Amino acid sequence: QNKITILGIPFDNLTRKEFLKQLYTRMENNDKTFLVTANPEIVMYALENPSYYNLLMEADYIAPDGIGIVRASKKLETPIKERVPGFELMLGLLEIANIDQKRVYFIGAKEDILDLTLKNVKEKWPDLVIAGSHHGYFDHDDPVMIQRVKASQPDIVLVAFGFPRQEKWIKTYLSKADKGIAVGVGGSFDVLSG
Ligand code: UDP
Repeated sequence: QNKITILGIPFDNLTRKEFLKQLYTRMENNDKTFLVTANPEIVMYALENPSYYNLLMEADYIAPDGIGIVRASKKLETPIKERVPGFELMLGLLEIANIDQKRVYFIGAKEDILDLTLKNVKEKWPDLVIAGSHHGYFDHDDPVMIQRVKASQPDIVLVAFGFPRQEKWIKTYLSKADKGIAVGVGGSFDVLSG
C-alpha cells in the first residue's frame, strides 16, 4: 500500500476512484476493513491524544479529507494525489451497494435525522439493502449493539457518532464482526437527511 505520512498520519495515496475500487474488492473478499476519513480536526485531535492516534494506526485505510492535507503533502514534496472527502466516499459506497445489492447498516445521529436519512437513501439508492439501523444515543460500550449489528451481516457499516466516539466503536465492532467495511461518517446523516 502506498502511504504518505503527514504529521505522523499515514494517509493512503489513492484517488477517490482507487479507494472505491479497493474497498469494493475487499468487500467481495469479505475482508474486514476499518476506514478512516481524516479531516484536519481528526488529525489535530490525534496529535494531542495518543490513545486516539493509536486507534487510527489500526485503520486499514486513512483517506485525506482536506485540502490542507494535500497542500502540506506537496510542500513536503511527497504529494498526495487528491483530496478524498469522507462524504463523497460514503456516497460512492452507497452507489456500489445499490448496484450490487449490498447490505448497509446505518448507525448514529438523532432518531428523527436517521429516519429522514433512511427515507432519502431508499429514494436515491432503492436497490441497496438496509441491513438495519439505530440512532446514535445509546451506551457505546454496550456489547448488545455490537452483536445486533453483526447479526445483520452488513457489508458496510456507516457510523455517525462524530469522532473519536465512532472510531472507538468501530474498533470493537470489527474485532467481533465476520466481515464488512466500517467507516465513521461524522455528521453525514445530518446532511443526507436534508
Ligand atoms: N452523535 C451520536 N451520538 C452521540 C453524539 C453524537 O449519534 O453520542 C451524532 C450527532 O447526532 C451527529 C453526529 O454524531 O449526527 C456528529 O455529531 P457532532 O457534530 O457533535 O460531532 P462532530 O461532527 O463535531 O464530531
